[in-house]
Amino acid sequence: MGGRYDPLCGLLHPAKLVRGLARVALAAGVELYEGTPVTAIHPGRRVRLDTPGGRVTAEKVVLATNAYSCAFPALRRIQVPMHTYVVLTEPLSPEQLAAVGWRLRVGVEDGRNFLHYYRLTPDNRILFGGRDAPYYYGNRTGVDRHPGLQAALAAELVRTFPALRGVRLTHHWGGPISATLDMVPIIGRIGPNLYYSLGCIGHGVALTQLNGRTLSDLVLETPSELTAAWFVGRRALPLPPEPIRYPLVQSIRGSLRLLDAWDDWRSRRRPAPAGTPGTL
Ligand SMILES: Cc1cc2nc3c(=O)[nH]c(=O)nc-3n(C[C@H](O)[C@H](O)[C@H](O)COP(=O)(O)OP(=O)(O)OC[C@H]3O[C@@H](n4cnc5c(N)ncnc54)[C@H](O)[C@@H]3O)c2cc1C
Repeated sequence: MGGRYDPLCGLLHPAKLVRGLARVALAAGVELYEGTPVTAIHPGRRVRLDTPGGRVTAEKVVLATNAYSCAFPALRRIQVPMHTYVVLTEPLSPEQLAAVGWRLRVGVEDGRNFLHYYRLTPDNRILFGGRDAPYYYGNRTGVDRHPGLQAALAAELVRTFPALRGVRLTHHWGGPISATLDMVPIIGRIGPNLYYSLGCIGHGVALTQLNGRTLSDLVLETPSELTAAWFVGRRALPLPPEPIRYPLVQSIRGSLRLLDAWDDWRSRRRPAPAGTPGTL
């Protein structure tokens, strides 16, 4: 129905960002232990964390576990792990790319509740995701594929870019994102020395950078403009446990999907807006 171009936005490769952060942290003397799950947390003056291979104690601990925070009973109350999924096409041919006309290569998202997000990769594939965000009973995480959504995303890709009818999809994946009841993030503290950050919904890549700086100020007890943000230390709306949680989340999700279906229907019936089409 309309569009807005924001020249201040950019695209980044999140895995490269994580690798870059790890490199900088290691160079600063941080010890990283990958593939080492924390299996239990024992709060106290010094917090003790159990892992399968050993224990770590620390004066202060940050749980930067976003959607996976549901593993910790104190955080399970305030967020639910939803899942978002993407599909990836084969590299487009020069003819397909020309037909699509995506000359500025900007990232795009639409304005639905369960938005569609899409971008071109450096090798000219289209990564296309969103449309819905399933919740799995019992706060299950790690459901990396969703055949129904894969098919729905494939259909939506062709509806958005009719010139790509018949394009091959080479990859499909997804993962958990953290949602609070009011859809706003929370940075908080449990007891005197256990900090957490969650509720980034599907927009966490940029936000985690800001949240990281905020958590750093909190842990170092350095009040700042960041620690004064209203979503730091706010009261979170609690969510009920199962079996009530599942129908509640499904009914919220269902109403948002209904609103999206209504907007989809209205936008298909509406004539294309007059004026010069924009350039992506
Ligand atoms: C398919 C998909 C597409 C997305 N697209 C976008 C996008 O376009 N833009 C955007 O801004 N965001 C996007 N997101 C959301 C974004 O990935 C998240 O908001 C962001 O990663 C949150 O960062 P985080 O560091 O808080 O949590 P995460 O990146 O989820 O990191 C949490 C970490 O905690 C670890 N962990 C969990 N449990 C334990 C444990 N018991 N012990 C030790 N470690 C543990 C996990 O292994 C993980 O490494 C997308 C997400 C998905 C799944």
